[in-house]
Amino acid sequence: MKVNPEDLARLLSVQGDDSAVDSLKHKVSTLPIHATIAALKQRRTEVADRLTASQTELGDVELAAERAEADVVPVRERLIRNQARVDAGAMDPKALSNAIDEIAHLKQRISDLEDTQLEAMDVLEMTSAQVASLGEEVKEVEAELHAAVDARDAEVGQLASQARGFQATRAQTASAIAPEVLTLYEKIRARSGGVGVARLEGRRCSGCGLEATVTDFNRYTAAPPDELLRCSECDRILVRRAL
Ligand SMILES: [Zn+2]
Repeated sequence: MKVNPEDLARLLSVQGDDSAVDSLKHKVSTLPIHATIAALKQRRTEVADRLTASQTELGDVELAAERAEADVVPVRERLIRNQARVDAGAMDPKALSNAIDEIAHLKQRISDLEDTQLEAMDVLEMTSAQVASLGEEVKEVEAELHAAVDARDAEVGQLASQARGFQATRAQTASAIAPEVLTLYEKIRARSGGVGVARLEGRRCSGCGLEATVTDFNRYTAAPPDELLRCSECDRILVRRAL
């Protein structure tokens, strides 16, 4: 294939822009902030799950506290009635003795129920504090997550803007290249890891890094300037240093 030597210089420039865009795309996909965001999302799920569990527990504890409070009411009423009967006198000794025994029993029962009530209040207080603290933690994680997403968008935006710069230059340079040369470059680039055109540096192809054989090297150097050379090893378009 014949080629305008100026197109080869333009191809090298296009290659530079394409490689820069590829490198920016790679940078975008491997930004450390992606891992930070994934970890924060994971943490948000964990904390939210713990919050839900604590809220459920709080509901149960509230019921237990209410039950303990309700249980003590009839026992107190019964104690008051018994005490009133004893205070009023007019009981035979047997009935009086029974009433006194029952009063002692009721007092013990009230004391036990009050202990239960106090324990329930303690658990209620602890669980409420836990719910509040987890609620705060959820808010903190969400704030961190929003900040990380904003930081990522800013970084990605900056890299995308750089890429658009290279793409604009590339488009302008490419528009001056003969279409068949550009198509060939793009075809080779697509199948050769993003590099379609390479330089001959000394006897080495900068595309594949291999040294040309003496025969190939002589053929490269003897070729007229308007001949489109291809590396015998990697098939990429080869540009001699003179250009
Ligand atoms: Zn090569």
